This record gives sequence, structure tokens and C-alpha cells, in this order.
Amino acid sequence: MSATIIDGKAFAARIRGEVAAHVARLKADHGITPGLAVVLVGEDPASQVYVRSKGKQTVEAGMKSVEHKLDVDTSEEALLALVEELNADPTIHGILVQLPLPKHMNEDLVINAIDPAKDVDGFHISNVGLLGTGQKSMVPCTPLGSLMMLRDHHGSLSGLDAVVIGRSNIVGKPMAQLLLKDSCTVTIAHSRTKDLAEVVRRADIVVAAVGRPEMVPGDWIKPGATVIDVGINRIERDGKPKLVGDVDFASAAEVAGAITPVPGGVGPMTIACLLANTLTACCRANGLPEPEGLTA
Ligand code: NDP
Repeated sequence: MSATIIDGKAFAARIRGEVAAHVARLKADHGITPGLAVVLVGEDPASQVYVRSKGKQTVEAGMKSVEHKLDVDTSEEALLALVEELNADPTIHGILVQLPLPKHMNEDLVINAIDPAKDVDGFHISNVGLLGTGQKSMVPCTPLGSLMMLRDHHGSLSGLDAVVIGRSNIVGKPMAQLLLKDSCTVTIAHSRTKDLAEVVRRADIVVAAVGRPEMVPGDWIKPGATVIDVGINRIERDGKPKLVGDVDFASAAEVAGAITPVPGGVGPMTIACLLANTLTACCRANGLPEPEGLTA
């Protein structure tokens, strides 16, 4: 193996430490405690684990954490009323409605009901527009974490060829916008892309956000390229459950200059960036300087 392994676990711990230090200063100097409200509708097991983890890390960073767990058959109207309540609560600076929502709810309607200044997931249409036009916005957590790792590894990304595989609203598209903002030459690939292997071979930076286990083999990777593997896929190997990314780690690590592992790469950065976004939202709401290095 020749690639440097980008340790997302250690990086995320560093980000959480920076957030906690900033929160302590906010409390001491201004008497302000950032607050994050997470809303979970239904009992999806993966969402429950994720929400528990968010709450725990929010408290560890010294922030206020509020969890609202609603029954799966809660009406859309009741959820919208809760969002309105949280929008108006001055002790809450970040609101996250855990997706997916039950089928009887309109996700776009609910997300766009969140005050954009408190939209720490960065999914509100206003934040999407602000990011797309290069203005100050709330940035989706997974792409933000991926960008932080790339900046940390490369310093400047200016002029690098980047390929993002995947064009979802939560990962692929915002990732491409962020790379463009940092002056990469960006290609977005998707399921209809012709000769994906050739497209990926041109890239100095590859971000894989597809959801297909180990679909990117090492011989698609340009020697020395940086590979950010966003994919989280649960498979069975040798009769045991295993978590793998969208990149075939073993063969890609032979060729790449740097690579994120799965697990322990992008995954831990997502919650760390949620905390960073909550802190940023709190600073903005109070007219205070934003924490350096924790936003895009
Ligand atoms: P989506 O299913 O919303 O999007 C997948 C994208 O991959 C689509 O744009 C699709 O193209 C594209 N795609 C599918 N098949 C191919 C193919 N054969 N070749 C090229 N492109 C293809 O997924 P998400 O963006 O939500 O998530 C992607 C992965 O990232 C998943 O594994 C998910 O679990 C993981 N993830 C990880 C997070 C973390 O914290 N680390 C957070 C969020 C997601 P098309 O548009 O043409 O259909």
C-alpha cells in the first residue's frame, strides 16, 4: 500500500475539540450556549442510532441538545407546527429533521419550513441557492467534512481536476459546488455517464458518493490522486457483515496518493460538521465572528 490514509476519526475528534473550545469561550465571554434540536419521526433503526449519536456529541461539545421523537403516524401539520416552534425559540440555533420522513409527509415542504439560518443540514432551498451562487450559506455536513479533509491534505485545491461520482442533492451536487468554489475543474458523473473509468482516470481528486459497494477499482485511479470515499454499504463477506465504501480500498490504496477508509473516513466527519454548523449558526444569530476553519 502506498497511499496516505486520511484518518477521519482523528480529524473529526480535532474538529469536535475546536468546536468545544469555541463553545466554552462563547459561554464565558457572552453567556451564550449554542442549541441543536433534532426531530425524529418514526422508528427507523439507523435513524435512531444516528440521532442518539448526534445528541451525545452535541452535549459533549458543551451545547444544548433537544430531541423530539414523534410517532410514525404524526401528521405533517403537527410536524410543521413543531418546526415553527423551534424556529421561534431563541435558545435553538440549529434544527435538523432526520430524513427519510414517513411516506405521508412531503420532505421538501418540511425542510423548507425550517428557518434557513437554523438549517444546519444545509438542505433548505435558500441555502442551496446561496451555495450555488457562491454566497455565505449553511453547507451540507457530509460535503463540508469531505472538503475539510481535502483542504487539510492539499492546502490549496485551485486548478485541480475533481470528479464527483453521484449527483444527489445531499452529497454529489453540494460537493461539486464546494470544489468549484475552491477553483477545482469539476466533473459530475452519474449513472448515465459514458466511460466512467476514463472520466475518473483524469481526476486529481475523486469523490465517490454512489451507494454501490466497491464499484471504483484501483485501475480507475490516477497515480497519486486523492480519493474521498463517501459510500457506506453494508455487505456480507465470508459469512460476516461488513461495511465497505464505493471504492475498492485495497486496490485503490496501491495507486492513490491519499484515501479515506470506510469506516473511519468521511462518516465521523458528518456529525463533527453538524456541530460546527450549529456553532456557526449561533455565532451568526448573535452577530459574533464565525469560527475560523469550520465553515466553507
Ligand atoms: P443517492 O442514491 O441519492 O445518489 C446516488 C448517486 O449515484 C446518483 O446520482 C446516481 O446517479 C449515482 N449512481 C448510481 N449508480 C451509478 C453508477 N453505476 N455509476 C455512476 N453513478 C451512479 O445517494 P446519496 O448521495 O444519498 O449517498 C451516496 C452514498 O453515500 C451512499 O452509500 C450513502 O450511504 C453514503 N452517504 C454517506 C454519508 C456519510 O456520512 N459518510 C452521508 C450521506 C450519504 P443518477 O442520479 O443518474 O441515478
